[in-house]
Amino acid sequence: MSMPSGYVRCHGCDFEGVMQRRPITLEYVLPGGAVVQGYRVFSWCSSCENVTEAEEAFDTDSIQAEIDSLRQQQVGFIGRLFGGGKAEDVEIKRLRGRLQLAQLRQSGPRCLRCGETTVVPLAFDESGTSSIVHTCGRRLFMVPEDPDAPRFMFRPEAIRLDPEGWKI
Ligand SMILES: [Zn+2]
Ligand SMILES: [Zn+2]
Repeated sequence: MSMPSGYVRCHGCDFEGVMQRRPITLEYVLPGGAVVQGYRVFSWCSSCENVTEAEEAFDTDSIQAEIDSLRQQQVGFIGRLFGGGKAEDVEIKRLRGRLQLAQLRQSGPRCLRCGETTVVPLAFDESGTSSIVHTCGRRLFMVPEDPDAPRFMFRPEAIRLDPEGWKI
């Protein structure tokens, strides 16, 4: 999935938010100690009243579907020929971790800035307008990133979270 990057402005006021891609890895620690990698999505947080990065939601059904389809490949002709794929085993193990996390998880995705679940993923239509209505009553829109704009360097960072998305 490609994430939009750039500035978010408002049709009704002078609000400006930045969608900044930072080199952050989310690592969820399961009760047994296993670590599951998570993903981020640019979102609007109504607690921060700003653009933020939030956790990407875990969808139990789609993870289960991925596991099922990998299992089917393993029992297929090619799988039998090569004695069951080792790469598939690793992938299934990874997906099982994600599935366990998805099943444990009670709360919705959290804002990585304030920790609240008051986030809605940012999405824009062809004209760059978002479905998010700002506090002033008008909609937000995206200003594409200027390729010549100065770039900030960020240190890669891993954030460890418990299954509910709280920093540990
Ligand atoms: Zn506004
Ligand atoms: Zn927030």
